[in-house]
Amino acid sequence: MKIGIPRALLYYYYIPLWRTFFEALGLELVISRPTTKTILESGLRHTGDDVCLPVRVAFGHIIDLKDRVDVLFLPRLVSIARREYICPKFLGFPDMVRQGISGLPPLIEADLNLYRRDSLYPFFSALGRNFTSNRFAIYLACRRAQQVQARYIQLLENGFFPEEARAALSGGTGEEQREPARGWPRVAVIGHPYNIYDPYISMNLLSRLARSGVHVCTADNLPETLVREHAARLPKHLFWSLGQRMIGAAWHYLQRPDVDGIIHVASFACGPDSLTGELISREVKRRGKPFLNLTLDEHSAEAGVVTRLEAFLDMMRRRPLLQVGGNGR
Ligand code: SF4
Repeated sequence: MKIGIPRALLYYYYIPLWRTFFEALGLELVISRPTTKTILESGLRHTGDDVCLPVRVAFGHIIDLKDRVDVLFLPRLVSIARREYICPKFLGFPDMVRQGISGLPPLIEADLNLYRRDSLYPFFSALGRNFTSNRFAIYLACRRAQQVQARYIQLLENGFFPEEARAALSGGTGEEQREPARGWPRVAVIGHPYNIYDPYISMNLLSRLARSGVHVCTADNLPETLVREHAARLPKHLFWSLGQRMIGAAWHYLQRPDVDGIIHVASFACGPDSLTGELISREVKRRGKPFLNLTLDEHSAEAGVVTRLEAFLDMMRRRPLLQVGGNGR
């Protein structure tokens, strides 16, 4: 049986987990093709203007997949951490897809809700029963999937980006430390994984920075505990997992002397991003680091992004402290 997974939304966090689980149960995975203009445009045609860009792109990925698979995996993500929720768009996503796209294959929609528990087993148990009645096989697949996911997270924390980490995992070792980058300056790119790691949506932001000699780090390169420690400085607990991750990471990088600037990547029409963007920019003003806020939508023009990026890099290079070789370089 072929199971389709869209290369969108939390694909960038969870694909090793899903892949290992489904392959252990004997399913063949089909991932949608990398985002292109065609994928984006088909997503735009099937969604309203009030929907954020990542969800519109995800629709395009589902259309890319729907005629090539037997079933589609669209988990209903309610909560991915204890006492926290995730953006409601994830919760309603399977319903939006069912309403917006016709001719779909059967949807596999197990609920992932870790609000009151840490264990992923109930989720995988419900998911696995769609394909087998062998509970032991489901248990083993779940255990194996979590082991692979833990190695993936470790690789991200060692400095890898998701694509590199997946390549290292399939190479079999999975314990490597990324070569320390010699790039200067060092810039933290803070944004949702489905924006910053999708080269089409981000207009090749990460590779563009790397080509300019910039060493890039992201929220995913930090351990969860460290991010949470920083996010806990907020007067009120932020109960959106992704927003908390953005803020905790931004605040950590802001106080690091070896990080020269921050780029915040937001989606147009994203409520959580407007809040996190504001909190981050207030803290940036207090700390006085170069800051660039990029808000992406389907109309974002590459030339505009490149111009702003170049101005931002120029600003960092012209900072008096750096001109005289500050930060020990
Ligand atoms: S967090 Fe923002 S960008 Fe992500 S799905 Fe929700 S509204 Fe869209």
